[in-house]
Amino acid sequence: MKKRQVIILGGGPAGSTTALHLLQAGIQPLIIERHAFPRYHIGESLSGECRGAIRDLGLESEMLAQDYPVKHGVNVFNPHGVPFWVEVKRRCPETNVLIPTSTWSVTRSTYDNVLLEAARQRGAEYMECEAISPIQEGDRITGLQIRTDGGVLENLHCDVLVDCSGQATFLASRGFTGRKVKGGYANQIAVYSQLADVVRDSGTEPSKVPGNTLIFYKAKNHWAWMIPVSETETSLGVVTSAAYFKEKRLDKAEFLRTELLNLNPDLTRRITNTDFLDEVRTNTSYSYSANDYTGKGFLCVGDAHEFTDPIFSFGVFLSMREGEFAAQAIGKYLGADSRSNGNPFADYEMINRQGQDAVRDLIDCFWEYPLVFTRMASGVNQDDITDLFAGRLYGHIVENNKSRQSMRRLMTARRAENAPPPRTEAMQAGAFAESLAAPSLSR
Ligand SMILES: Cc1cc2nc3c(=O)[nH]c(=O)nc-3n(C[C@H](O)[C@H](O)[C@H](O)COP(=O)(O)OP(=O)(O)OC[C@H]3O[C@@H](n4cnc5c(N)ncnc54)[C@H](O)[C@@H]3O)c2cc1C
Repeated sequence: MKKRQVIILGGGPAGSTTALHLLQAGIQPLIIERHAFPRYHIGESLSGECRGAIRDLGLESEMLAQDYPVKHGVNVFNPHGVPFWVEVKRRCPETNVLIPTSTWSVTRSTYDNVLLEAARQRGAEYMECEAISPIQEGDRITGLQIRTDGGVLENLHCDVLVDCSGQATFLASRGFTGRKVKGGYANQIAVYSQLADVVRDSGTEPSKVPGNTLIFYKAKNHWAWMIPVSETETSLGVVTSAAYFKEKRLDKAEFLRTELLNLNPDLTRRITNTDFLDEVRTNTSYSYSANDYTGKGFLCVGDAHEFTDPIFSFGVFLSMREGEFAAQAIGKYLGADSRSNGNPFADYEMINRQGQDAVRDLIDCFWEYPLVFTRMASGVNQDDITDLFAGRLYGHIVENNKSRQSMRRLMTARRAENAPPPRTEAMQAGAFAESLAAPSLSR
């Protein structure tokens, strides 16, 4: 069997994007995927910078052909029905001014298929089969054992194995990375399905267009999403603690039904029926991370090494951006005249840290300081929050984002103290003012 330069395990957004960027660099990878596409996947709301990532891959016209609902931003409703609004905006490259733009809410089966098909049409090799285990020689991963359709085990060899296996965390679960640890939202459960005839916003101003993502919350870590995925179908999901779900002793459809009608008044008024169009599904234990997820002959991308929480829709974007970074790192490694004996992908892991940390602090900060967060998102910090929500999470732009710095300080201190969250708006505002006044944070 011939040796490949790069094998990509997983044909989701991380795998396809890595492949597409490698192909742009003249490297032809092999993608291994166990499911026939199009296949179901949760995760429909795309962040603003996802559109940029799609444009960079030359796939905007394919996206327009899908006729997905157009998303101009996200409205987050508190238990009293007071929303804060974060609009999708991009930075003008010449002036750095924020300009309103849009992105999409997608059906993941077709979206993931658009990416995978593009990779295949542009020259990626593809095998539909199950990856069984990595092949290791000394301190290096040198390939992948697969089981073919006919049940035969085969060894495939490569210079670089890219783990894009999503929540299956192929390498992390087999101990090839640092220890996989639970994330801050590991004890949560997501219960979701789709409904027709949900009352959507209707207006022409960006905050009122029907394609927007709506988030409703009842209390800390107890919230729901509403994401239009077609003209008539809307994805609805409830996220809460697994203990609360268990306490209710309802089957998952009944649980979802009850929650949709009781979680938040602004959500309830939009539900006209609870005849689910699709199976009611659940996800648990979705929050985790693993360090040291790169090494000799391998690197992990996207959910394969970390996922925090879905509330602000960063998952697909992080997977795609990390796919781009991974392709750059692999291109550099394969093109190098000589190779040192260290980990060739250590810098890639460091860049990723910036984005993943920003997402985690943003979400933690929202739950710890919801009142102040709302004020920030609507007041003087609006541009900072707009940048973060869009996905401008790397390099100078995030290093100079004052709200990001402030969140990092606050959350680092709070995690160390392990103290209960400040309850009143005055207490939250005090903590925030203090952290904003603190000297700039060096990373
Ligand atoms: C409840 C919930 C809601 C979410 N909502 C959003 C949202 O609104 N917006 C958003 O951006 N993100 C959302 N996400 C996150 C998003 O779905 C993921 O971050 C994203 O799919 C990650 O892409 P990926 O390519 O890393 O992994 P995946 O998309 O999971 O792809 C991994 C692929 O690897 C394949 N694979 C795995 N193991 C093997 C094996 N052994 N052999 C062969 N193939 C294998 C799988 O079949 C799969 O196709 C949500 C997540 C959850 C849990």
